Amino acid sequence: MPQPSPQITTFSSVHSAGIQVSLSRFKNAWFITFPRAYGMVAYNGQRIHSRLNVAEPGTRKNTFYFNTDWSIEGPVFHPFNVLSESEPVVVRPTGRKRMEKKAGSDEEVECVEFEVVIPEEGLLKQCYYCLYWEELGSPRFDRCGVNEDYYWCRQCQARGKPIAFLSSMFRRDTVLPSYGDWETGRKKDNLYR
Ligand SMILES: [Zn+2]
Repeated sequence: MPQPSPQITTFSSVHSAGIQVSLSRFKNAWFITFPRAYGMVAYNGQRIHSRLNVAEPGTRKNTFYFNTDWSIEGPVFHPFNVLSESEPVVVRPTGRKRMEKKAGSDEEVECVEFEVVIPEEGLLKQCYYCLYWEELGSPRFDRCGVNEDYYWCRQCQARGKPIAFLSSMFRRDTVLPSYGDWETGRKKDNLYR
């Protein structure tokens, strides 16, 4: 019998109105993401709720200083509250704090360091080529290469890298709505940006 693939770790808190969320990472940048579509707040092309830190290359990947440009006009809930009181626990404060420039501004803010306590397999992945997101209950994405932070969906994997790359030229960092989004005119979000 093949082993079932490891599941995406989902969590919620009293602050998230019962909505299950997940964590995602690219290199040193951390994000709260939606592991499935939820009406208007998360659809297939857009699953990032908030970015959690200002990425710092070369540091440990399982810790981050919470510093977000998420604003009160953002969707549904404050990321700090959800992280701090999540069920199950997904991050814990290390006790370290430091001053950083607030994301998207010159103002300084005190930033609390968190350590992520869930395994890499629990993170929600996005396809580097077509920007499609994993979905709860669907087959997990594989890494594009050994020791890489890049993942690809089953469809892009089946096409192979040269074709996946060509088709991504038109779909990544799109100015025009990308393929599949013509009806809604929505832009896809991009963990890898
Ligand atoms: Zn793909």
